[in-house]
Amino acid sequence: MENFEFHNPTKILFGKGQISNLKKEIPAYGKRILLLYGGGSIKKIGLYDKVISELKEIGAYIIELGGVEPNPRLTTVITGINLIRENQLDFILAVGGGSVIDCAKAIAAGVPYDGDVWDIVTGKAKAPSNSVPIGTVITIAGTGSEMNGNSVITNWETNTKAFFNSNHVLPRFSILDPELTFSVPLDQTIYGTVDIMAHVFEQYFHASSNAPLQERIGEAILRTVIETAPKLVNDLNNYEYREVMLLNGTLALNGLTGMGVNPDWATHLIEHAVSAVHDIPHGGGIAIIAPHWMEHVAAVRPEKVAQLGVRVFDLDRTGKTDAQLAAEAIQSLRKFWASIGAPTKLSDYGIDDKEIELMTERSMLADQIGNYVPLTKEDVRTILKNSL
Ligand code: NAP
Repeated sequence: MENFEFHNPTKILFGKGQISNLKKEIPAYGKRILLLYGGGSIKKIGLYDKVISELKEIGAYIIELGGVEPNPRLTTVITGINLIRENQLDFILAVGGGSVIDCAKAIAAGVPYDGDVWDIVTGKAKAPSNSVPIGTVITIAGTGSEMNGNSVITNWETNTKAFFNSNHVLPRFSILDPELTFSVPLDQTIYGTVDIMAHVFEQYFHASSNAPLQERIGEAILRTVIETAPKLVNDLNNYEYREVMLLNGTLALNGLTGMGVNPDWATHLIEHAVSAVHDIPHGGGIAIIAPHWMEHVAAVRPEKVAQLGVRVFDLDRTGKTDAQLAAEAIQSLRKFWASIGAPTKLSDYGIDDKEIELMTERSMLADQIGNYVPLTKEDVRTILKNSL
């Protein structure tokens, strides 16, 4: 293992009716609040009214910023920063999915920063220690943003999607009520499932040694997802399936499986480039790219893909080489994702080869990306072409 520090103080309030704890949690951070939400789903499910009623009970002063985009945009982050500065707000309450929460984190870091917030998103500057505190009410399982310090933001002017990570923007608390995810439509439920699995893969295929416990925890999350998701996609209002998936999403990217390992975020970097150019749903892009990435990995280092096949997809190792097992594992993954209805090729979103060079360029944050198997520009171009 690598030396590591683990610091995750986000308080999780999980279960039915936890929204009623908002009025207890918020006052510690102040009563002047930026209420951040997305395109309107929270109004349709009655959550907006519940949040407002909680905030009124504590006499909060509320400024609203709705309309945060899926794949949240830098322009919205800047609007949020200005609102907080102009109105001297104390706290950001993010109600929605990963996009709303990620947007909140970038706003939080940008408020006390004198320069351009894009410097923080791209890692040129660090998030300040006096970033504005955040609380979240998550409405969709998948990103784990409710319990991590990551934020992914798109600069639409330059077709660049970048991300930063900082303990200073970790949510102070997050409310996770599975009932709030009942209304997540089938396609978004599938994307969330894929995203959870990809987060485990990217920490599982690490460039470190001796992390058997972290790998076993990752395998347990994957097995639980594989057991639950097929039932959930046929029964979207099932509380038990929704609660299991919600917790899976949180634990897949809250630092638990990433302790002491050097993860490989290549799939996410390539998908970020695709959705920065074509604005497709994040989980949909991951479902298309990840199997092609894994094929590339298996060609260079098949042993871990083979291990995944045996331990997660119950493949029989007898008489097979690692390369054979790895090929079967990837086939099993494809079959599983197809069985729940995930997209399989970029052309499913109407993407053709016209922007391959731009997407390749945008993926390459350095000369090589990824750790378990570092990818050159040529490798990324091939993965993208195979994904068409
Ligand atoms: P999302 O972009 O937040 O939301 C996707 C869609 O689902 C939106 O149209 C949203 O509608 C809708 N939705 C959310 N909750 C709903 C509900 N309860 N009922 C009905 N519709 C609902 O999805 P996400 O997958 O959580 O976030 C994706 C973003 O997170 C991407 O930008 C991705 O790059 C990023 N990401 C972040 C991390 C991280 O660690 N922070 C990890 C992976 C990916 P409304 O807008 O109307 O609410």
